[in-house]
Amino acid sequence: MAKRDYYEVLGIGKSASQQEIKKSYRKLAIKYHPDKNPDNKEAEEKFKEAAEAYEILSDEDKRARYDRYGHAGVSGNAGGGFSGSGMTMEDIFRQFGDIFGDGGSPFDSFFGGGGGGRGQQRARGQRGSNLRIKVALSLEEIAKGVTKKIKVKKHIVCDACNGTGAKDSNSVTTCGTCRGSGYVRQVKSTFLGQMQTTVICPTCNGTGQTITASCPKCKGDGRVYAEETIELEIPAGVEEGMQLSLRGKGNAGMRGGPAGDLLINIEEKAHDYLQRDGMNLIHELYLNFADAALGTSVEVPTIDGRVKIKIPSGTQSGKIFRLKGKGLPSVQSYGQGDQLIHVNVWTPKKLNDQEKDLLEKMRGMSNFQPNPGKADKGFFEKMRDYFK
Ligand SMILES: [Zn+2]
Ligand SMILES: [Zn+2]
Repeated sequence: MAKRDYYEVLGIGKSASQQEIKKSYRKLAIKYHPDKNPDNKEAEEKFKEAAEAYEILSDEDKRARYDRYGHAGVSGNAGGGFSGSGMTMEDIFRQFGDIFGDGGSPFDSFFGGGGGGRGQQRARGQRGSNLRIKVALSLEEIAKGVTKKIKVKKHIVCDACNGTGAKDSNSVTTCGTCRGSGYVRQVKSTFLGQMQTTVICPTCNGTGQTITASCPKCKGDGRVYAEETIELEIPAGVEEGMQLSLRGKGNAGMRGGPAGDLLINIEEKAHDYLQRDGMNLIHELYLNFADAALGTSVEVPTIDGRVKIKIPSGTQSGKIFRLKGKGLPSVQSYGQGDQLIHVNVWTPKKLNDQEKDLLEKMRGMSNFQPNPGKADKGFFEKMRDYFK
């Protein structure tokens, strides 16, 4: 299903200020909050959709990427390639600290076990940090999209204790401060007035447990530093400087905390015969003077193999031929660029006596005198005309 535009979701314009974004999200979050709409799937979807839109647009960096590349630039989920942000309810409620102030949702029942199945959800340990990697791609890989297996060194969940950090099940006791919920209640003043909110338990850091003997492998961290192979699905049409993110593929959190994100910075490898200009590819073709004057057919490289093109007689240096659809796809998955073939007529740098004689004869001939009519346009001017 096509994702809705984030600005549309929040009902704001492209130039909305951070304050407008926050205000509009706050309204939607209250309207569609699960506590106000129990067992309403549609409200829950709307709630998640708004949270996702806010997550992106409230971050100037992510917002800029979204404005430039659309959903492909900002979202990521291990399972579904680069579709879906994969925000969990836990992520959304963590975000509320920012929206409603003072570290909590104005809706107390969510964490406290007040009502419904959701209430039983327990907070976990500290979130792992984001991991950044660079991936260098060839134009061929960019043209088709590619799956890459990359080895990264990062914190992964300790397999000896399954992330708990405890030596065994006997060395875990319920936290006395929060009685295992991971949260403690506090009365806070919010913009909605005085209300009870919940904050992460300072004693157990939200895990709900205290450990009496640590896991020997991870020394109680619940995670170890190791190499992991990650499969990256890179969509077609990405470009240098673009950043993709894979939610939850970064460093594992402490003691079972959620993992950070994997941020992938795209780099482009130089190509031997093709230069990229947005979605178009440019090939510099060198012709000898005789071929340009008499006409010929030549093979040119394209992103998917060689293609024969006809050079008409009287072709001037600077002429641009176009191979429609032989460029790169848009990362937004609509449209396809072209390949432009830029003709350069080659002037010999060395000549033997025979060649010199031939050229001396031609030098004075009437058809060899330049006659461009209007001043010949330069390459970039022609490129501009081409895109008109
Ligand atoms: Zn361990
Ligand atoms: Zn606790």
